[in-house]
Amino acid sequence: MQVAIIGAGIGGLALAHGLRQAGVGVRLFERDPSARFRKQGYRIHISPVGESALAAVLPAEVRRRVIETATHPGDLVAGFDSSLTKTFEQLYPGAGPATVSAIDRYAFRRALITGLDDVLVFGKQFTSYAEKAGRVEIHFDDGSTETADVLVGADGVRSRVRAQLVPDFEVIDSGIRCLYGKIPLTPGLQVPPDFLRGFCFIAGGDGPGAAFAPVLFRTPPEEYGDYLMAVMTGTQDQLGHPDEELLAMSAEDLWKVVAHNVTDWHPTITDLINAADPTAAFPITLRTCIQVASWETGRVTLLGDAVHPMLPSAGAGANTALWDAARLTEALAGDSLPQYETEMRTHALAAVNESLHNAQRLFGLDLTT
Ligand SMILES: Cc1cc2nc3c(=O)[nH]c(=O)nc-3n(C[C@H](O)[C@H](O)[C@H](O)COP(=O)(O)OP(=O)(O)OC[C@H]3O[C@@H](n4cnc5c(N)ncnc54)[C@H](O)[C@@H]3O)c2cc1C
Repeated sequence: MQVAIIGAGIGGLALAHGLRQAGVGVRLFERDPSARFRKQGYRIHISPVGESALAAVLPAEVRRRVIETATHPGDLVAGFDSSLTKTFEQLYPGAGPATVSAIDRYAFRRALITGLDDVLVFGKQFTSYAEKAGRVEIHFDDGSTETADVLVGADGVRSRVRAQLVPDFEVIDSGIRCLYGKIPLTPGLQVPPDFLRGFCFIAGGDGPGAAFAPVLFRTPPEEYGDYLMAVMTGTQDQLGHPDEELLAMSAEDLWKVVAHNVTDWHPTITDLINAADPTAAFPITLRTCIQVASWETGRVTLLGDAVHPMLPSAGAGANTALWDAARLTEALAGDSLPQYETEMRTHALAAVNESLHNAQRLFGLDLTT
């Protein structure tokens, strides 16, 4: 059997490894021009669900690279007000040296690409598919085509595979925008000790909120070293700019918006924001589904954000994509695609609901009505 995967993101790369390990023929098509293309280095929390999926699908060498490039595990989630008074604290047992509990997204993707050179094709943007003579013909924007027995859409929240398979599937704009940035951990920088221990969020009252989390590499990538992830979240009104302005801003101007919104916060936070690398800033629109996409089992299937986009408020999107990859590997190797699709929907819906519940609790955001 020959499987074609669209999208070399977290889920697509994990699936490609799993299928190769299981002896299933696979090719992976990614629209980015190269592995180095997107330095979208935000920190991703890897839960035990993601960790066991990685253990199930990755060859030993790739798993070793993932562990090496992960960040030192944190042990804290804490909340503060804008004067840096702690309002909430939860401690976690620290993870051991052979486990992954948080990882820089860019370093993770680079590690996951290891060993896939002969099956991964960059610069291939999927446009559509057609089922022909018991196979799937796949079309790309350069006019080329490929054929496969099964097509997997692992092409993220704006999936074109899903758009064709489940055209009426509803993805909701949460109204929340994230302005993401990086604060390099240079010698002498004053960082509250809690910010180096785990995920710390600041409630901004009526204005936007912010969060900080450390990326302290076991082995840093060539391009950069340890940093503090900083992200400001708010509606367009709270951030003071409509989408037309926010999404068109340069990285430097985006970071000026963040700095402007923290001018009356505790000086330690203001100083941290001013110490960020302004060229690393980018905006993210937070989208989610309420129901997981559904379709009749055939030669085209989906995994990850393509089928169940969710808010990052449960730290579960990537972990669920990894779970999908491990379960879909078993299904394609064992001819049980319908079971994958049924189990995936149940498993993912629980994560979607948890992220919606957390968003309501943390931000008063109710998207279900
Ligand atoms: C700020 C933020 C923080 C987050 N933190 C966490 C966290 O702590 N833990 C967690 O579990 N999750 C987290 N998530 C969610 C997580 O990033 C996603 O759920 C995860 O990346 C989904 O993986 P995926 O493989 O489905 O999609 P993606 O990783 O988005 O990969 C999709 C791939 O498909 C490619 N592609 C798209 N269209 C095409 C096309 N037409 N042709 C070819 N290729 C295409 C894209 O270029 C991309 O490489 C966070 C998300 C955000 C925004």
